[in-house]
Amino acid sequence: MANHIYSKQRFNFACWNCKHHFKLTLQLEGTPQLESNLKLDVVCPICNAECIADLNPYQKEELTVAFKANPPDKKISGTTWEFPDVIPTTPS
Ligand SMILES: [Zn+2]
Repeated sequence: MANHIYSKQRFNFACWNCKHHFKLTLQLEGTPQLESNLKLDVVCPICNAECIADLNPYQKEELTVAFKANPPDKKISGTTWEFPDVIPTTPS
């Protein structure tokens, strides 16, 4: 199993400035360890405001345990994501 999880997802952002929702497709790379400071810099297509989306609260560490007699128990961990329907943004 690969340590990296690539997932292309469509995100719904809420613009902090004009309050409109806009969609962006982004590719996320899951890493074995949680990123400490993951912030997305996006631009609202409606009012062109610069929006910062903090993704830190949406990271979940997933721990998979595979039981095998030989070799002994193997643990694989990776980062997964749990996003809300709409991701709030803040001014840069
Ligand atoms: Zn906007």
